[in-house]
Amino acid sequence: MDSITALLSGAIEEVRPLSGGAPASYIPELADVDPEHLALAAVGPRGRVWSAGDDDVEFTIQSMSKPFVLALALVEHGLDAVMAKVGAEPSGEPFNAISLEAGTGRPANPMINAGAIATTSLIGGDTIEARTARIIDLLSGFAGRELRVDEAVYASESATGDRNRALAHLLKSYDVIDASVDLAVESYFRQCSLLVTVRDLAAMAATLAFGGFNPTTKVQVVEERVARDVLSIMASCGMYDFSGEWLLRVGLPAKSGVSGGLLAVAPSQFGVAAFSPRLDRHGNSVRAVAVVEGLSDQLGMHLLEPHESIAVPVVAVHPGETGPVVRLSGELGYAGAERVFAVLRELATGLPAGSTVTLDAREVARAHPGAMAALQTEFDGLPLGFVIEQ
Ligand code: GLN
Repeated sequence: MDSITALLSGAIEEVRPLSGGAPASYIPELADVDPEHLALAAVGPRGRVWSAGDDDVEFTIQSMSKPFVLALALVEHGLDAVMAKVGAEPSGEPFNAISLEAGTGRPANPMINAGAIATTSLIGGDTIEARTARIIDLLSGFAGRELRVDEAVYASESATGDRNRALAHLLKSYDVIDASVDLAVESYFRQCSLLVTVRDLAAMAATLAFGGFNPTTKVQVVEERVARDVLSIMASCGMYDFSGEWLLRVGLPAKSGVSGGLLAVAPSQFGVAAFSPRLDRHGNSVRAVAVVEGLSDQLGMHLLEPHESIAVPVVAVHPGETGPVVRLSGELGYAGAERVFAVLRELATGLPAGSTVTLDAREVARAHPGAMAALQTEFDGLPLGFVIEQ
């Protein structure tokens, strides 16, 4: 067994004894599941999918579809038009709460049902089939394989979906949704009934982690900004009324679903997904929460702890024909520019005035405008000639 698979296997064995919670039963078809299922998967920058446990068991995506349908709405309409219909504030309420802004009826965020129904209603198409086809197309791009609807779960959701239908009628009465209630709600039920495995979810999470680029298929599925917007909302609202505590303890944008799945995103590092059907009182999987929390601790993934390498370039100095060449690679952020200054100042002290330094920035993967401006100001203050190669 390779070391990453061993790490994942070890992580699930740690949480296997947890027996609290119960599978969702408000959708009859969801109750019909083996509560002992347990699986974990991760996808890194090279696109290899690592997994352990019941990694080939399919379950419905449920609320984990919400961030990806939000991505589609952002692609189709842009952030401002989407925000006109749904907010970006944690509601602090359960997933099926009637959480609508006083006066406007705008749902608090797209990760609770009211907001997700509003988001789904924005997807173009005249029929349920046409809307669902667009949704399946994009979500399949995130997963890296063609996803399909579990018709039995869909029928069960639709037959018992009166609360969601009621939410949609309320949204319609406030003109938050323009589509018919039927179009909005049935498309939403179908999106929730898409079948996935933890491996699919890990690929979907990884696509968000790498700025909309799916590392398993090497396809840019959505623009980087769309992925960033989705992750921002997942970070504050992805775990229902546990979102604040999740950010505190785990520190990663994430989304859970009532089937017992959970996906979490470590930006620029990897996507991870876990599955275990027993849910806690927030509707989050007991063992999936525990296993991702453990991994975050073990691997130092919390976004808000210091990460040395954030936007700090690698700096190497080589002799060149006209003077020293300072070669930068990696990412150049504002804080990273400070380290480059230190190297330049030290170089300057050892060189006769009027010497020329070449700054070779061709290997810089990403240079933030503020950092480049700061470098230019620094050059202007040194008694040396500078050539920047970009
Ligand atoms: N289909 C479910 C619903 O709307 C999804 C909810 C969830 O996963 N939390 O009730």
